[in-house]
Amino acid sequence: MSDVLYFNGRFTTTDERVLRVEDRGFLFGDAVYEVFKFLRKRPVFLGDHWRRLSNGLTAIDIRNPWTEESFASSMRELLDRTSFEDGIVYIEVSRGEGPRAHFYADDMTPTAVAFSRAYNFPDAAKKERGIRLITDADLRWKHCDVKSVNLLPNALSKKKAQRSGGDEVLLIDRDIVRECGSSSFFIVKNGRVITHPLDCHILPGVTRDRVIALARDLVDEREIHAAELDDADEIFITSTTLGVMPVNQIDDKAKRTRGPITAELQRRLDEEESRA
Ligand code: PLP
Repeated sequence: MSDVLYFNGRFTTTDERVLRVEDRGFLFGDAVYEVFKFLRKRPVFLGDHWRRLSNGLTAIDIRNPWTEESFASSMRELLDRTSFEDGIVYIEVSRGEGPRAHFYADDMTPTAVAFSRAYNFPDAAKKERGIRLITDADLRWKHCDVKSVNLLPNALSKKKAQRSGGDEVLLIDRDIVRECGSSSFFIVKNGRVITHPLDCHILPGVTRDRVIALARDLVDEREIHAAELDDADEIFITSTTLGVMPVNQIDDKAKRTRGPITAELQRRLDEEESRA
């Protein structure tokens, strides 16, 4: 089925082939992306996603095709044209199209695409039951804080996890637990909510940020050692599509199903999302 597609300032559908083979997003992975959720056609935390997109473009020296206002109005129009109420919008901005060469021109016109997709968000039973993580080595580049489209290590690790019966991969860098293949990672120990600090090793998750704000003075942002996974009281991950999702197993070790802090953070995030 075709979806509504925004392409460089105009609207079409995903049936139209819009990209050229020499787009640097395709040839070099020279692009950043963003994903936001919408409920009843209302975007959730759009301002946060805009800020991360802008920061990513600045970090890799791509001209931003939007202002905050033109971005918000393009996304509103995309949702107006969308035939379903709830889903996600995928946005990608590449450096643009030009003769294939590592040296890029300084004045390239970025390629901007965005499309809406229906999405099966986890239901209440799944949010209570939780999911299983499989650990793998973190083989990503040294700027995981940029939401670049270079997701080959993430995709390969996630597939490996899936083949071992997992729902998501937990990326471990020697002894340090970084984050998951497409979600942020938290443990709860002695009433403290612990997650990796913001630096170049993890993506600044929009949901991570919201959850930290909701948990307020319970939070410690510090590196987590792999051995700490064994005696954590609660473990959960966060993302735009999963919200707050409890972890019930890591590799072959069963973990407590949803604990009280995880449940409370789920409740508060759901409330905030429905107000967005
Ligand atoms: N970490 C990684 C590596 C991701 O790819 C994602 C989302 O795609 C996240 C964390 C969660 O980010 P957000 O909460 O903004 O969806």
